[in-house]
Amino acid sequence: MALVRAAVVPAIGSPLEITGIELPEPGPGQVRVKLAAAGVCHSDLSLSNGTMRVPLPAVLGHEGAGTVLAVGPDVTHLAPGDEVVLNWAPSCGTCHPCTLGEVWLCANALTGAARTHARRADDGTGLHPGLNVAAFAEETVVDAACVLPAPAGVPLTDAALLGCAVLTGYGAVHHAAKVRSGETVAVFGVGGVGLATLQAARIAGASTIVAVDVSPEKEELARAAGATHYLIASDTTPREIRGLTGKQGVDVAVECVGRAVTIRTAWESTRRGGRTTVVGIGGKDQQVTFNALEIFHWGRTLAGCVYGNCDPARDLPVLADHVRAGRLDLGALVTERIALDGIPAAFDNMLAGKGGRALVVF
Ligand SMILES: [Zn+2]
Ligand SMILES: [Zn+2]
Repeated sequence: MALVRAAVVPAIGSPLEITGIELPEPGPGQVRVKLAAAGVCHSDLSLSNGTMRVPLPAVLGHEGAGTVLAVGPDVTHLAPGDEVVLNWAPSCGTCHPCTLGEVWLCANALTGAARTHARRADDGTGLHPGLNVAAFAEETVVDAACVLPAPAGVPLTDAALLGCAVLTGYGAVHHAAKVRSGETVAVFGVGGVGLATLQAARIAGASTIVAVDVSPEKEELARAAGATHYLIASDTTPREIRGLTGKQGVDVAVECVGRAVTIRTAWESTRRGGRTTVVGIGGKDQQVTFNALEIFHWGRTLAGCVYGNCDPARDLPVLADHVRAGRLDLGALVTERIALDGIPAAFDNMLAGKGGRALVVF
């Protein structure tokens, strides 16, 4: 039994509590990991406010990296001291999407979130691991399928970001939208995922990369990540984007906000035949409407994207190559390094649309 500090969401809409939790020794098929760092993702906010539903109370946090402290009795491929990146969406390999190779849609990816993995130290309440991995804690106990080898030559505190923001942004560009060299790209929403998406568009060889955000303060971050142009979101955004792309509109729009108005704006900003990938996670109240004639006339595609349509085991080494070659700058995604008790303020910043990634460093 280990006593560690963690960020717990007690119920939907309740403020996060930083409190002591008791972690059991890892059982069969499990490992105990000491976190080095954990990124604060917009999905953590969505889990705490009920936009996305998981069993509560839960320890949130799903983007992290750390060192294996102990392994369960039958775990032979991992050992104490191994450095790992957490993977919140392990795939079973046997469900229909998995057999088709669409492992990011695994029907069993979140079954682990139904268990309780820890207890509150103060009153013994059982706690769920929000998205399987419960990374907002000094230590966590996860299924061995939820860890991947940390790439050599990448500091663990940077590697933490690979587990959600970077896989998602990279995958949106390379797997979902399949951006080709020379294409034009617009990225809506310059948070952690948006910044990763901009860098991925640059890696893909996009010619014009337009970043769009409501805040003028993110221009410098966006340009450092690869944006060739920066626009403040408004009613005239599609027209401005056509002005930057020979009156055509962009080949690809990536929406990283999850709001109806932004999805609609992204779609309208693409050329005839353009592709829009929606990465942002919106609520059920966000209705996007299209008329039948415009769907025909524009010949555009609108597609969702889960975890960047990535296979983390396959894609993590590819991302690590980009990092080591200097093409992908993980540190540039982080606008704030915080302690566990800084997470509530990081949530406030996300709600206010401020900053890129906040990173909890343990
Ligand atoms: Zn995430
Ligand atoms: Zn599966």
